[in-house]
Amino acid sequence: MPLSLPILKTPPLLVEAELDLPASTLRLRFAGNLDENADLRKVQAYCDGQKETVGSLYLDLGQVTYLNSPGVRAWIQFLGRVQSFFQGCAFERLSESFLHSASAYAEMLGFASNSLGSCEVPFFCSACARRLTHWIDAGELGTLKALKLPAVPCPQCGSAMRLDDFEKEFFKFLARKEK
Ligand SMILES: [Zn+2]
Repeated sequence: MPLSLPILKTPPLLVEAELDLPASTLRLRFAGNLDENADLRKVQAYCDGQKETVGSLYLDLGQVTYLNSPGVRAWIQFLGRVQSFFQGCAFERLSESFLHSASAYAEMLGFASNSLGSCEVPFFCSACARRLTHWIDAGELGTLKALKLPAVPCPQCGSAMRLDDFEKEFFKFLARKEK
């Protein structure tokens, strides 16, 4: 059983660390808001303390629901430090809100070699005005130039749902490796 402990318990941001020493992995789960109250120095200090024993860092941002510019700045600073402790990281889950920011600020995903996992993508049905999000693996999305969006039928009426955003805007984060 990996060791799990909450590092930051100051709502609206919660950070939980899951340390698996036999596997030599550290997983950080973020939930809530990345805003001016997000003090990530404590999390950074925790990571600093693990860099000798941990080989791989996994980041789960699937439950980040809100970000603003101070939060984005804090995140970029934090990631810049911790990704160097572990020679990069793997993003396991990226919420819709986080992806919006990552498309605006490429630094939010750090090194181009950091892998991207499951992405929360918003869809909309114009027939019944229904909105929902789907988790899609970044590897299946293709590239910004050759986007491969899966067909998502509306659970209510069966019509094909469309992306609830501009493709070129929302999926800009996919272009970070296309330079
Ligand atoms: Zn529908």
